[in-house]
Amino acid sequence: MSDTLCIQIDTLRCGDQIQLDEKVNASFLCLDECDELKAVSEITVCGKFYRVDRWIGIDARVSVVFCLPCALCNESFECAIELPQWVHEEEIAQLSKGQWDVREPLREAILVEVPFFAQCGGSKCGNFGSIQQFVRSEDGETPFKDLDSIIQLQQG
Ligand SMILES: [Zn+2]
Repeated sequence: MSDTLCIQIDTLRCGDQIQLDEKVNASFLCLDECDELKAVSEITVCGKFYRVDRWIGIDARVSVVFCLPCALCNESFECAIELPQWVHEEEIAQLSKGQWDVREPLREAILVEVPFFAQCGGSKCGNFGSIQQFVRSEDGETPFKDLDSIIQLQQG
């Protein structure tokens, strides 16, 4: 269990902050059931816990590297996920046992950032040239061949 991401609330007084600059094991992302998506680095969490009035919060830059298959060529590649400023707050009265475990909200925040249509070359598949012949239809026309004329009609 990671102490870093599970804070005892009474260690933090109102107005206080606790600085965070940690690397934590990514196993709590619980991706075991998913063969295709794997975290291949620890999760870097750099920022602070804070407490204001009835609220406790975290404000941190978060990064982790995943290995996942390219949506086009299916080759596995490494994809860095970065949350430049992840802010999450809870009302202290809603928390039980005097502690706050941020792993679940952090897990959700990270997983929604994993691109749905990730390609191995970043914005475009690095193998696109070699698979392009399979992407085009048999008569050499793309499924979007009429798109330009439709757009012109709408604009005209
Ligand atoms: Zn690819």
